[in-house]
Amino acid sequence: MSRNKCAPADGIPLLSGTVSSISRSSNHLEFGRLLGYPDCCVGFFGKSNNWNKTNSYVEAYLGTKASCDYRTNCFGKNLGYSLTFHIPCRFDCSSTIRYSTALAKFLDGCEPEYVAACRQLLRKPVLSLNEREIVVLDGVFVDDRRVKYRDAIDLFAMPEDVLRAIRAGNIIEVRGRFVLVFRNQELVETFECRCDEFGPRVPLLIGWA
Ligand SMILES: [Zn+2]
Repeated sequence: MSRNKCAPADGIPLLSGTVSSISRSSNHLEFGRLLGYPDCCVGFFGKSNNWNKTNSYVEAYLGTKASCDYRTNCFGKNLGYSLTFHIPCRFDCSSTIRYSTALAKFLDGCEPEYVAACRQLLRKPVLSLNEREIVVLDGVFVDDRRVKYRDAIDLFAMPEDVLRAIRAGNIIEVRGRFVLVFRNQELVETFECRCDEFGPRVPLLIGWA
């Protein structure tokens, strides 16, 4: 992104001395509010972000009533391409959609190429196991639970063996707690996700409308 082309806009909070001092404390909820994150999502984070018990992405997914909306897709933040930087309370959260729409409108005026790149990335399917183990799949859904892909982009800390297994295939399927990887019609890898340990793994294959 070029510098100094974007001026502050209404509804988009600015970092301040207050925010930086709070960020050094562990008051994550107040920090989220100061960053302008929706109250519903801040409240959700306060309840769900306990890695001993929950998986926030699964909680958000289970609460989603409509389709998962790409404007609530927060996974791109790890790649620097996102319009939403908080975990939404649901993947159809209307407040988050308003937030990211306002941000996209503002950025469209000064960094349209960045916004176009975000929109392209944020519509790609995501495989999430827990809050650290996430890949973006460069591909498309072929039915309700399978994605055909050319590549998998690691967002954070997907274990090497899992990443290698995913990249050995070109079709991925989530079946209950199992992730199956196929190379065309041939099954090349299966791995089980356990949720009875720290950082509970529950596989989610998310498509975005
Ligand atoms: Zn929300």
